[in-house]
Amino acid sequence: MQTQAIRIHRHGDPEVMQLETVPLAAPAPGQVLLRQLAIGVNFIDTYHRSGLYPLPLPAGLGLEACAVVEAIGAGVREFRPGDRVAYAGGATGAYAQHRIMPEDRLVHVPIGIPDEIAAGTLLRGMTAQYLLKRTFPVQRGQTILVHAAAGGVGQILCQWARALGATVIGTAGSDAKQVLAGTWCDHVLDYRNTDWPGQARALSAGHGVAVVYDGVGAATFHGSLDCLAPRGMLVSFGNASGAVPAFDPLLLSQKGSLFFTRPTLGHYTASRQELVDTAGDYFHSIEHGFVQPVVQQRFALQDVAAAHRALESRQTTGSTILLPAA
Ligand code: NDP
Repeated sequence: MQTQAIRIHRHGDPEVMQLETVPLAAPAPGQVLLRQLAIGVNFIDTYHRSGLYPLPLPAGLGLEACAVVEAIGAGVREFRPGDRVAYAGGATGAYAQHRIMPEDRLVHVPIGIPDEIAAGTLLRGMTAQYLLKRTFPVQRGQTILVHAAAGGVGQILCQWARALGATVIGTAGSDAKQVLAGTWCDHVLDYRNTDWPGQARALSAGHGVAVVYDGVGAATFHGSLDCLAPRGMLVSFGNASGAVPAFDPLLLSQKGSLFFTRPTLGHYTASRQELVDTAGDYFHSIEHGFVQPVVQQRFALQDVAAAHRALESRQTTGSTILLPAA
């Protein structure tokens, strides 16, 4: 059997991604053959493509999709042909029509969650879950700051944090994005050439915020430290503007005995139980209306280069998906 998949043979610009016909084996014991319905495009995919996070080459790309189970290998217990499932994480290779996955990385998708939402937001939603509930457990009444609040992770983080009772300050990099983020943040700051750290301190009664969730990285690192209250936490979880440069730990002491952490979803969903619980909590947050995630951009699978260009040039809001040919 064969399928169509996006592959790279070298790291580089979006043009290195090519649609290829590749062989597809039958599922081995513990594996499942999936027909993919929709595929998530995440910022981490651009790091894999560019080589910021290098992959052994040649490589497939993509970490997330919603799919139908077509066949199961020996010993698979939780899934049957016809089940609708999703995954977010593990090995790259989601940018494909069909895919083999290990059973233990899949979750069932509840009936009320559309394919596109499962495909385009499970990775971001599970990220928001662990950041808000386990990395820095946000408490009712706290003031927090979320960068790139109109983006995929940013939207979910802000909506869920407000549902938890926090006052949310978001940042956004265009006028239109500020208007959009204003629909789910208490305050929105323009972080292009402004004193946004000073404004954030003013919005938190001069005290500073309890936590900054920073997926932007290099461009916001110092400003993020400057908006924190004493003993606040900088959660640096991404590099959209480039990786945070090395720094002296004394900086954390000078700025108010701050905490710094650099977490990754894989370490918060490593066991089967953690994965199922994290995905389940995210799906419940949608079902209860705490979070209303939006898939804003859709591209055909073969147009993946355009999807990456849009994400990297800050043209996107909410989440982005690829649609394989039926
Ligand atoms: P987004 O939809 O948030 O897109 C990134 C946003 O970052 C842009 O829209 C832009 O918003 C902002 N940005 C600021 N500076 C730049 C720049 N120089 N180039 C590009 N974008 C910039 O992406 P995702 O939702 O996919 O991911 C958000 C972040 O979360 C990423 O850094 C990603 O790697 C990280 N992540 C980390 C995880 C983890 O477990 N550690 C898991 C999932 C995601 P604006 O125009 O408003 O500035």
